[in-house]
Amino acid sequence: MTSIARKLNGSFWRKRLWDLLLTDFIVAALVCGGYLYSCEKQIYSQAKMSDWVEAYRHAGRYFTRTDGISWRQIDYVIQPAEMEEYRFPVTDFLEFCIPAAVILVILQGIHLFFALFHTSEIRRKLKPINDLAVRAEEMSSISFDPGKFSTLEQAIESISPDGPEAEVHTGDKDLQSIEVALNNLLHHMKESQQQQARFVSDASHELRTPIAVIEGYVNLLDRWGKEDEAVLNESIEALKQESAHMKELVEQLLFLARGDSGRNTLHQVSFDLNDVVKEVFEESMMIEERHRYKMKDQPGALTRGDVAMIKQSIRIFVQNAVKYSGEGDCITFAVGIEPGMVSYSVQDEGIGMEAGELEHIFERFYRADQARNGEKGGSGLGLSIARWIVEAHHGTIEVTSAPECGSRFTVKLPAEQL
Ligand code: ADP
Repeated sequence: MTSIARKLNGSFWRKRLWDLLLTDFIVAALVCGGYLYSCEKQIYSQAKMSDWVEAYRHAGRYFTRTDGISWRQIDYVIQPAEMEEYRFPVTDFLEFCIPAAVILVILQGIHLFFALFHTSEIRRKLKPINDLAVRAEEMSSISFDPGKFSTLEQAIESISPDGPEAEVHTGDKDLQSIEVALNNLLHHMKESQQQQARFVSDASHELRTPIAVIEGYVNLLDRWGKEDEAVLNESIEALKQESAHMKELVEQLLFLARGDSGRNTLHQVSFDLNDVVKEVFEESMMIEERHRYKMKDQPGALTRGDVAMIKQSIRIFVQNAVKYSGEGDCITFAVGIEPGMVSYSVQDEGIGMEAGELEHIFERFYRADQARNGEKGGSGLGLSIARWIVEAHHGTIEVTSAPECGSRFTVKLPAEQL
C-alpha cells in the first residue's frame, strides 16, 4: 500500500473510532445526567411538600464511598443544612445500565464490521489512484544524477526530425519511460507532418487539372475562337464550368485547412433538425429535377449546432446521392428521434459501394473507383467535410451501402436537453 492509500485508510479509521467514542461519551453523559436529575427532582418534590425548599437549595452535594460495604460502592449525597442526608447508590444504577451498555457496544461492533466491508469497497474504487501513487513513488525513488540529463540532451540533439529513424535512444534503463514518451510525441509529429505534406501535394494535383483545362481552352480561343463562333461558345462554357469547379475545390480546401487549424467557428443555436432537412429537401426538388424525392418527417427533433454547417453536411450527402444514382431514382430524406439523439439520413438507389471502399470514403481526396468517378467530377473532399462538421457537433455518421442497390448515410447528433 502506498503512503497516500495508508493515509486515506488511517484517516478513515481514526474518524470512525472518534465518532464511536464521541457517541459513547454523549450517551454516558446523558444517562448519568438523567440519573442525577431524577435524584434532584425526587428530593425537590419532598422539599416542596415539607417546606424546606430553601434548605434544599443550599444543600451540599458530593460523591462518596459507602463505608463498610464495598470500596466500589459510590453514592451521590444531597445534604440539606441541619437535616438528614439523602443517599443515592450511583454504582447500583450503573450496574443496572450494564445490559444497555453491552447492547450499545455490540451495535458499535456491527457498525465497525460493516465499515470494514465499506473500506474494502473504497479501496477497490481508489485502486487507480493507488496505482498512480505507486508509480509516482517509484519515479520519485529514482535517483536522478545530473549526468543522466546530459545523456538525454545528447540523445535528443543527435536525432534528425526529418530522418527516417527519428528516435531518441540513450540505452539507460532509468530514462526509458521518458524515451518512450518522447518517441511517441515524435511519431505523432511526424505523422501529422506527413499528412500535411500529402494534403498539400494532393491539393496541388487537384488544382492542376482545372488549370490545365482552362489553359487549353484559352489557347483554343486564341487560335480559333476569334473567327469561329462555335469554338468561342464551347470554350466560354467550358471555362465557366472549370472555374466553377476550381472555385468549389478552393473553398473545400480552405474549409478543411481552417478546420485543421481550429479556425472554423460554430455559431451554435437550438433548432429543429426536421425543419433544416425539409429545407434542403425542398431546395433539392427545385434545383435538380431529374430525380424523385421523398421526405419522412419527424417534427420536434431538437438539437443544437451551427445551422449553416449542418445544412452543408446534408447537401454533401444529397449531391453525392444525385451524382451516384441514375435519372428517375428516388432520394429519400428521413429524420428520427432516439433517446438522447436525433438523426437524419439521406438514401439513394444508386450504384452503391463495395465493403472495402466504405472504409476509405471519408479520407481526403479518396474516390472509389477512379475511372467511374472521372466523369462524375467529384473532388473526393465532400465526405471529409461532412465528417468534420458532424464530429464538431459531437455526432456520428453511419453508412449502409451495397453495389447496384444504393447507399444510406445516417447522421446522429446529440438531442437538445430541455
Ligand atoms: P466526391 O466529391 O468524389 O463525391 P466525396 O468525399 O463526397 O467525394 O465521396 C468520396 C467517394 O465516396 C466518392 O468518390 C464515391 O466514390 C463514394 N460515394 C460517396 N457517396 C456515395 C453514394 N451516395 N453512392 C455511391 N458512392 C458514394
